[in-house]
Amino acid sequence: MPSLSEFDLIARYFSRPAADNALIRQGIGDDCAILSARDVDLAVTTDLLVEGTHFFPNADPHALGHKALAVNLSDLAAAGATPACFFLALALPRADEAWLASFSTGLFALADEFGCTLAGGDTTRAPNIAGTAGSITICITALGRVPPGQALSRGAAVSGDDLWVSGELGAAALALAMRRGEVELAPADAQVCAARLDRPLPRVALGQALRGVAHAAIDVSDGLLADLGHIAERSGVGATVHWDSVPRAAALQSQPEARQRACALAGGDDYELLFTAPASARARIESAARRARAHVTRIGSLTSARDLVVVDRGGERIELRQRGFDHFT
Ligand code: ADP
Ligand code: MG
Repeated sequence: MPSLSEFDLIARYFSRPAADNALIRQGIGDDCAILSARDVDLAVTTDLLVEGTHFFPNADPHALGHKALAVNLSDLAAAGATPACFFLALALPRADEAWLASFSTGLFALADEFGCTLAGGDTTRAPNIAGTAGSITICITALGRVPPGQALSRGAAVSGDDLWVSGELGAAALALAMRRGEVELAPADAQVCAARLDRPLPRVALGQALRGVAHAAIDVSDGLLADLGHIAERSGVGATVHWDSVPRAAALQSQPEARQRACALAGGDDYELLFTAPASARARIESAARRARAHVTRIGSLTSARDLVVVDRGGERIELRQRGFDHFT
């Protein structure tokens, strides 16, 4: 079978009929996309997925298409933004049509769910360095709309705020431990956890509903404590987390305490929202969550101590070895 050209590949797998999108004056096909926005702030984010670093070489391409966009939509959610469009840059060792068909189907299923239009990108061959299969790199840049001045940020937490998190934590980290052969799970648990790792659902509706109610927000991509650390640092505050209150995935609850802590406090890839709000906003937070069909839990509070502390039921400090994920440490 003759190999697909770069332009055939784009036309076949990534060009779709022009979408009705108020932001896009011109989409795929020219040197630049032309975007036009009035009376709106644009939230812009980029995320890179590298084979071997972010996903296993045999990863299901449909799930990869989903996840590559989901992690970007999760950043938009943390800003309280409404997804609008995205750009896709791909480096591929070969034009594998089965892979492309599955990847683009997974990608567009999520894009359509959130009304997010592919507006451009770049496609290039990744080098096949002697003796290796070469590796896939996927880079997505996504843009979302926010009413002027209303984007949520990491830097707006105030000492005394409540600390909240959406959903349940730890399932993705547990699935990763399972794939690494570190833990065995019952088939039903394995399936639930793998779905959380491979097909995270960005909390877009919740992020939007929290605008004007929450102070600071971040999505949990590197682990609860690592991401809480980003809020604390940017806001110049500290935090106390009540371990007993941290919502844990059902599959995690039968694991030893040390693994529960590692997965729920330091495990990454959950893509829940971690946010702060004044105690006076509790009822409004609960009603925002109901509107967004999300579950939220109060897990601690922000302090002036410039330190992150996890305490048990009796208020005793829990010491933790690992705080979260960092690519270079
Ligand atoms: P240029 O050489 O000007 O960078 P390209 O030839 O790389 O443009 O791309 C041609 C058109 O196809 C551009 O509009 C670009 O945005 C789009 N494009 C290329 N790769 C992708 C992709 N993976 N997904 C979506 N659009 C793409
Ligand atoms: Mg050009």
